[in-house]
Amino acid sequence: MAAIDLAALARSRGVDLTVWPPRYDPAYRPDPGAEWWLPEVECAPPAARDELVLAKLQAQLGWAWERSPFYRRKWQQAGVSPAALKTLADLARFPVVQKAELRDAQAAHAPFGDYLCVEPGEVARIHGTSGTTGRPTVFGVGRDDWERIGEAHARILWGAGIRPDDRVMICSFFSLYMGSWGALKGGERLGATVFPFGAGVAGQTAMAVHWAQDLSPSAFYGTPSYALHFAAAARREGFDPRSFGFRVLFFSGEPGAGIPATRRLIEETFGGICVDMGSMAEMSPWMTNAECRHRTGMHLWQDLVYTEVCDPETFQPVEFGREGTPVYTHLERTSQPMIRLVSGDLARWIGDPCPCGRTYPRLPDGLYGRIDDMFIVRGENIYPSAIEDTLRAIDGFGGEFRVIISRREAMDELLVRAEYAATHADPGAREALRATMGERLRLRLGVRPVLDLVPAGTLPGTEFKARRVVDDRDLYRRTLGSA
Ligand SMILES: [Zn+2]
Repeated sequence: MAAIDLAALARSRGVDLTVWPPRYDPAYRPDPGAEWWLPEVECAPPAARDELVLAKLQAQLGWAWERSPFYRRKWQQAGVSPAALKTLADLARFPVVQKAELRDAQAAHAPFGDYLCVEPGEVARIHGTSGTTGRPTVFGVGRDDWERIGEAHARILWGAGIRPDDRVMICSFFSLYMGSWGALKGGERLGATVFPFGAGVAGQTAMAVHWAQDLSPSAFYGTPSYALHFAAAARREGFDPRSFGFRVLFFSGEPGAGIPATRRLIEETFGGICVDMGSMAEMSPWMTNAECRHRTGMHLWQDLVYTEVCDPETFQPVEFGREGTPVYTHLERTSQPMIRLVSGDLARWIGDPCPCGRTYPRLPDGLYGRIDDMFIVRGENIYPSAIEDTLRAIDGFGGEFRVIISRREAMDELLVRAEYAATHADPGAREALRATMGERLRLRLGVRPVLDLVPAGTLPGTEFKARRVVDDRDLYRRTLGSA
């Protein structure tokens, strides 16, 4: 197996991967007809790329060990140090980081926590969570990190089919929310025309529709639910959403773009392709989970952020084909590096090839749930097992279900998507079934869910019991600033 020729890469594309953090030529851009931004890395045999990943990982761990009391303490307690990392598999010996630890570290060492690995004066941007529940988390992004985030996002947006002659309309909240700014930075680095319209102000969507009509943007960024809201506003204003000419619509912040029915709806509504992206704000560059233009599930861009899909109890990587929770590790972040940050999301990963030629592993179903069981809706503690239990006791239930919790207006909304058996296919029987399910769930849960009935066999089975919940409330709050 030939290693990636780093010297050739530096000559041809101005990318110096022999130093850490890597150096990128800000003037570099592929030919617009090219499929890839950095094909030598994106399409490399995985084992060859892993050598590069290992070298970056060793440097990243060394950086954190030298500069962060947080990581040094954690790793010493676990009996590991950067010297223990001889292969990529050794990363699983390092303890994971939970979000609560980051909040605690920031409470003890305000404002950035003792995992800030640069001088506070080198922080170029402060972002954060809105903190509607509990203490907000502060993100300090270093100046050079911000430029590298732009590099990473440009490369990934290129894979989604965005080109310099595109006009990218960004319809999400410009606040502490990282999503909007990350999309903006990537679009700028790529050389596209960016149009940071924003979202979340009363009356803004109707305005956005008219601006889109006048400016003919060719790409859209936002959340899937906002895109559909935008389409509805367009129709109210007398426009067909297809008339805007969006060629590429890319999303983060909610799992919808990876849900086949939602994707289909978005593509039919706008006539462009729907591309699913996004990991976590802490992990910026957050686009390192991202589909290419072929939309075969999110690629894990492993040489930018190294992702392990892990068993949610042991945090050891699971084999391809299995599901677990993504655990993320930065590879070129100097300010607030995250090393083995647990996402809490649920995903399945595979190593199958994609028609685009990239050799990254993929999440074929996106991020489709959360590993934690209990959730709270309108003050009621709700367990998916209670929903399962109730549904299974009802004659006519088709065998599988999903729970989607979202926040619309000021209220949490509980949507239960349940299969109906073939015996209940006719509309009358289905309506009776809907009434029974709604009433029994209300009695059991204390909250009346919205029911969406689908034919048996529609929803794929899950490997983990009760891992059927999609909670997009936090993301929704951060995006649209409700609550
Ligand atoms: Zn691909």
